[in-house]
Amino acid sequence: MSADGTAAVEQALTGWSVGTGETALCQQCKTALGEGSTVTVYAYRRAGEQPVSVTRLYCRGCDRRTVEHATCGYYEWLAEARLALTADVAHQSHYLTLCGIGILDERGPRTGDSR
Ligand SMILES: [Zn+2]
Repeated sequence: MSADGTAAVEQALTGWSVGTGETALCQQCKTALGEGSTVTVYAYRRAGEQPVSVTRLYCRGCDRRTVEHATCGYYEWLAEARLALTADVAHQSHYLTLCGIGILDERGPRTGDSR
């Protein structure tokens, strides 16, 4: 099975809604981030399941470049992204989404075994 990998994950993360309204908080230092900010996000997928979930978001200052603790049974990614403000016309509100995704690091379900 070839890596359904990077391209699929970038696609899954593009447009992912983050934060509340027009602001997202850095997981680590709680800095408020808005449209145009460059962020790093952590995403994972449980082996055998399809949906990718984004669980953490870091600002530039707390830049994360590698997955620190690989978790058994999970695919994990760190990706760089920019925040885009998207209008929800139906609800007359705005929300932040991820765009310009670039995968920084990737871990397979078993540590040290990327294939
Ligand atoms: Zn931060």
